[in-house]
Amino acid sequence: MIYFDYNATAPVMREAREAWLDVTEHTGGNPSSLHQAGSRAATRLADARGQLAGFLGCHPSDLIWTSGATEANNMVMHHFARTLGDKGEVWISAIEHPCVHDSAKHYFGKRAKLIPVTRDGVVDLDWITTEMADHRPGLVGVMAANNETGVIQPWREIQAICQAYEVPFFTDAVQFIGKMPMKELGNCDFVSGAAHKFGGPRGVGFLKIPHRQSITPLLHGGKQEGGRRAGTENIATIAAMMAALAVREKQISQNLHLLRGLWRDNFERELLRTLPGTTILGTNAPRLWNTVSALMPDGDRKHEWVMRLDKAGFAVSTGSACTTGKEEPSHVLAAMGIKGEKAVRVVRFSAGWETTEADWDALVKGVAKVHGEMQAGKS
Ligand code: PLP
Repeated sequence: MIYFDYNATAPVMREAREAWLDVTEHTGGNPSSLHQAGSRAATRLADARGQLAGFLGCHPSDLIWTSGATEANNMVMHHFARTLGDKGEVWISAIEHPCVHDSAKHYFGKRAKLIPVTRDGVVDLDWITTEMADHRPGLVGVMAANNETGVIQPWREIQAICQAYEVPFFTDAVQFIGKMPMKELGNCDFVSGAAHKFGGPRGVGFLKIPHRQSITPLLHGGKQEGGRRAGTENIATIAAMMAALAVREKQISQNLHLLRGLWRDNFERELLRTLPGTTILGTNAPRLWNTVSALMPDGDRKHEWVMRLDKAGFAVSTGSACTTGKEEPSHVLAAMGIKGEKAVRVVRFSAGWETTEADWDALVKGVAKVHGEMQAGKS
């Protein structure tokens, strides 16, 4: 089986497993305990926090460990729901992950406004500047890169606009971190990340909050994380996350992702050549080097693609894993103007650091073979 579903989750890398085992075997204490075992655990936690702060370009005290990005993103919305007052609005992009979109709708209802995107799936900067000149929201949330299309959002520009208008800016950087240089993310007020997208374990992530500011806790109880998130910190998974991120940061600093982007580009060229009638989404925008969102030729349905490619030895997806199985078309595609029959023909191929050029070559052949089978099945 060749895995092309890294945007859903990535395999846990060796360095992460080793870090997890090391902490589990040698760091048994609770970081809140006063004895030596506790202080060894606290040191390990502080090291991880310092390391992440260095990668992001922020202060270690700005970071809160969470159970993943869903919790981090809900924490942001919950905080603003508690602090903005009855009239405050939040503006989020129309292509946010459901854990941002649904929690914004949950807390703010109609006061959660959707920022439109272009046909290429890029947030409309003009919309933001025009609306901002008229009135200001309490929060703007735009993801750093989209999970379905891989389109990189102009988060630096939006951060600058928000800063000029003194509006807090939040970015869900789950798909960006571990794939692209992340240092400037620390300039954003709120940033969320999740380990399982870059080779760390599932169920661990973080939230970066503005320096020296507090956040309304979502979980109440112990005084962990400076009273901002109760619950004993899972040091083993945090250490594993940081071990994985350190590997990714090194690979990115060596520009190893650029070559992988070329392999992806070759795949797209071959796909368009072998399957005329295919459209790659977001090609006029900057995209992550690992993601291909393809509108497959007329008459082929996405679930059929996923099932048949699975049988042929390729794990691919229809879009966001969270919307798989739902019959409604993806809200991301709808926001890009891809609706109705077209929307169900979109297949996502998402590679990882371990994907080779040969894997991409095999995929294009696999897709052509499956297409042939589907055409034969029709006649
Ligand atoms: N945000 C984005 C962009 C994602 O792709 C995902 C995972 O699919 C999440 C948030 C949720 O992250 P987690 O699985 O850590 O809760």
